[in-house]
Amino acid sequence: MKIYRGTSASSGIAIGFVVKHEKYEILDKIPNSCIADSPDTEVKKLRSSLERFERHLEILMGSQESLFRELFEAYRIMARAIIEEAAALVISERICSELAVKRVFTSYSEALLRSENELIEMRELDLRNVVYEILKRIKEDSQDETLSAEQRFIAVADYILPTDLISLIRVGLKGLVTRKGGVTSHIAVIARNNEIPYIIVPMLDLESIKTNSRAIVDAINGQLILEPVESLVKKYMEILKNYEDLKVLTKPYARSNAVTFDGKKIDVLCNIGNVEEARLASSLGCDGVGLYRVEFLYTLEKPPSEERLLNALIRSAEFFKGKEIIIRAPDLGGDKPVPYLRLKEPNPFLGLRGIRLLLEYNKEILMPFLRAFVRAAERFGENLKLMIPMVSRVKEIYEIYSSLEMAIIETSSKLRADDISLGIMVETPAAALMLDLLVDTGLISFVSFGTNDLAQYVLAVDRTNEKLGELYNDLDPSVIRIMSIAIEKIKNKRVKLGVCGEIASRQISIPILIGLGIESLSVNPPAVGLIKYTISKLSHSKSLDLVKEITRSAISSEDVIRMASKLLISSGIKILR
Ligand code: PEP
Ligand code: MG
Repeated sequence: MKIYRGTSASSGIAIGFVVKHEKYEILDKIPNSCIADSPDTEVKKLRSSLERFERHLEILMGSQESLFRELFEAYRIMARAIIEEAAALVISERICSELAVKRVFTSYSEALLRSENELIEMRELDLRNVVYEILKRIKEDSQDETLSAEQRFIAVADYILPTDLISLIRVGLKGLVTRKGGVTSHIAVIARNNEIPYIIVPMLDLESIKTNSRAIVDAINGQLILEPVESLVKKYMEILKNYEDLKVLTKPYARSNAVTFDGKKIDVLCNIGNVEEARLASSLGCDGVGLYRVEFLYTLEKPPSEERLLNALIRSAEFFKGKEIIIRAPDLGGDKPVPYLRLKEPNPFLGLRGIRLLLEYNKEILMPFLRAFVRAAERFGENLKLMIPMVSRVKEIYEIYSSLEMAIIETSSKLRADDISLGIMVETPAAALMLDLLVDTGLISFVSFGTNDLAQYVLAVDRTNEKLGELYNDLDPSVIRIMSIAIEKIKNKRVKLGVCGEIASRQISIPILIGLGIESLSVNPPAVGLIKYTISKLSHSKSLDLVKEITRSAISSEDVIRMASKLLISSGIKILR
């Protein structure tokens, strides 16, 4: 048995047999010279491969509704262009079709990789995906574009391409593990939308994994367990059954208001990162958006234009008409690098990130974003709210406010800065300890605890460092204590209290957050039912007692979990064990 820790990119649990997905060496196997006996036959092979690939794309698009239509449309265009160029090469140089495709690929791939830009590198993956699909069809020469029978398996790969992932899902994929990838990648979005548990494990030793051996993907706790002992498989079978049962039980709660049984209403908003996720979240019962991570738009080769930002904000907000939508100003730097800024910092998490970076790159990044925000706010009114990440000093709020005033002037908007609901994230110990004075600026109407970062700065544990995995725990009593201290400081002030870190998506944290006085939770969309169910069975007053007990006597996260579980169980709540 071997256990790897990883990052969960799509929650859930899968138990199954490993299938190694190692198909992409097809390109390396093509010889560097090969003569075409009949150029016409080679061109025919190219065209037939294109035709079949287009049919395959149709099948995939059918299963994904509109979700990846744009991406697959782009694949279609790319494939046509590659085939045209390859056909011309076959004729002019009398080479075989596979080599021609490889040459076209190599010329574009090298150019894309030379840019040393993360997003362009992602495009190289798309190009590779298309070329791989074309080559596969030239080689196999099969007419069949249907997908084969259902099995129960876990795919393990260095990386995987979108078309392959969707094909695997259609033949019964239960879980996914890759060495490369990001939580915000296309792959992660497809996995989340299809409820495929997915973890990214950079340290994975692919060579040592045996095909058809058993594995457990625990994407709730970010673990991959290879060749588990029988007792663990049994335990996970129970957890999985419990997880599935709980999903069925809690689903109907997603569309109702979440009110504790002693009458305290809690808003359950959602975390989203792009227009597609907005669409998905709106269909799952979210009461609004508590955190729109716009950083996805900043992974391009240059910052997005004002128009592009405006378009993304409007298209996303359309799904939540009449509901609250909190847009976070881009939280760049730290774990969200921006290739074009070429930041070279010894310690990015303590460097130029969040609001500091926005103020430093005022003209290039902050102002276009604020202008787009103001224009979107004209359309959606006070429901569209602005949230500032990584605040640590009072001065930063005044600076953001004057930039907002400037954006209003520059867009000739009729709004006044006071019309816009401004909030801050509490992610640094400084913000927590200064919260009363931050609020006393009179410019803030809500605060949202970003517990992912707050935990890393309180505990001095890098949230991305695999080796410190055990030490990073957002349910550490120190995290609960600092939240309680911060909230106490603003007890009588009129600001709405929210949480948008991962802690809000976990059932065990709910009584703690309610007991702390949190009024609004922003969760991952598939968790809405579970969280609303849990709230509806809880007592607000007992949750207050729980927090008193935790802040007084808990000495470890295990203590916190034990105390919170006790309240959940005694309240008759079915829990995820
Ligand atoms: C957080 O830090 O809790 C948060 C929500 O922000 P992010 O995870 O995007 O840094
Ligand atoms: Mg954060």
